[in-house]
Amino acid sequence: EYKGMSKERMMEIRRLNCNPMTMKVTYYKKPVFVHQGYMQWLWDVDGKRYLDLFAGVATVIAGHCHPKVTAAAEQQLKRLWHTTNIYVNPFIHEYCEKLASYLPDPLKVIYLTNSGSEANDLAMLMARLHTGNYDIITFRGSYHGGSTSAMGLTSVEAYKFPIANGIGCTNTMCPDVFRGLWGGSHCRDSPVQTIRECSCAQGHCMAQEQYIGQLQETLATSVSRRIAAFFAEPLQGIGGAVQYPKNYLKEAYKLVRERGGVCISDEVQTGFGRTGSHFWGFQGHDVIPDIVTLAKGIGNGFPMGAIVTTPEIAASFAKGAHFNTFGGNPLACVVASSVLDTIQENSLQQNCLHVGTYLMIELAKLRDKYEIIGDVRGKGLHIGVEMVEDRVSRAPLSPQAISEIFEDIKDMGVLIGKGGMYGQTFRIKPSMCITMEDADFFIAVFNKSIHNYMEKKMNVS
Ligand code: PMP
Repeated sequence: EYKGMSKERMMEIRRLNCNPMTMKVTYYKKPVFVHQGYMQWLWDVDGKRYLDLFAGVATVIAGHCHPKVTAAAEQQLKRLWHTTNIYVNPFIHEYCEKLASYLPDPLKVIYLTNSGSEANDLAMLMARLHTGNYDIITFRGSYHGGSTSAMGLTSVEAYKFPIANGIGCTNTMCPDVFRGLWGGSHCRDSPVQTIRECSCAQGHCMAQEQYIGQLQETLATSVSRRIAAFFAEPLQGIGGAVQYPKNYLKEAYKLVRERGGVCISDEVQTGFGRTGSHFWGFQGHDVIPDIVTLAKGIGNGFPMGAIVTTPEIAASFAKGAHFNTFGGNPLACVVASSVLDTIQENSLQQNCLHVGTYLMIELAKLRDKYEIIGDVRGKGLHIGVEMVEDRVSRAPLSPQAISEIFEDIKDMGVLIGKGGMYGQTFRIKPSMCITMEDADFFIAVFNKSIHNYMEKKMNVS
């Protein structure tokens, strides 16, 4: 039973003392007050249980307070919390060796940070030092962090502050096969296809060529002849689980490398088996980046980030001293190490493939039933459901309608996320331990919420 601070008091402190900006972005009209979690479940202060299909935005990958991860943290808390890396301790070295074994050659050199923004800052710095170039290209609609430099990579209006940022950062068109200019039913690697008409002819992907043409135009018009880096998520997170045409990244990597740039894969949301078919998102695109950035799930909610790069890039970075007080502290390393073990022991990657594929197939059936479900996409347990006014115009469903459905889903006991340029895409990225029963429960809830919305709309009109 919860005996802590009252809801009213929490809201007051939130308004006055605690990160007041978050007041502007209260996720729900009636906020959720959580105080406890276990695996895929969260409990609110009134004792109501929620199926958490957002998991702190793809972060709590093994499950809230996972027993094994919690035990590892408890044990380490009694042994050694902190020492900076001016001394040599086994914990960081055991972890780096283990993490490196999950990455293909030549990605073997690891730097540990405390967040994804920090990891992306470091990746920008490294790319610029290594190449001697300055320009960086990212996708429109991408989110790569909120620090002053990472904000420059980010291309979502809500997260851009009106200060000088992003000097040397240029956005290019996101190759979104649903909402973008070009696309089609076979463009992307997903267990379900979009119902948008395909522009491809006999296995020849037009959309891929058209979007690559856009990147070529950006390279020819908006940046200098030599570039430092190209940043992309393998599957866009905050953008709304946006997927690119097959082979797009492969071609993009080629163009970037021809101009002296390095290719950076932001795996903050797609790493650690979430996409089901592969441990890392980039593997699904058949590319090997020069730098990989990690955070969120790496510590199952314990604050941590990392970048992994090649010995060659690391050598360029060794020209200066790099120091990070908390990055790679013993506690974080022990927790992250047990997260990797848990993924293996509990077959979490396989579970993502199994339950995620099932969820997408079931969601696609609802898409075929309701006109306002425009698109179902994703891989593994990284799923986007894009809502539209109607299938022909593909106009984003109004924020009011989204909010109504979203609130209803929450009231029925399920937490999901929102994303996309207009907040029109529901995002499902739960702990990787969810079961088929959880998937069935969500499908029933989602179906009911859409049904309720449609019924209300009919009665009004
Ligand atoms: N990259 C991606 C893809 C992200 O989703 C986020 C966080 N939403 C970040 C980077 C930044 O991570 P952090 O919040 O840990 O700084």
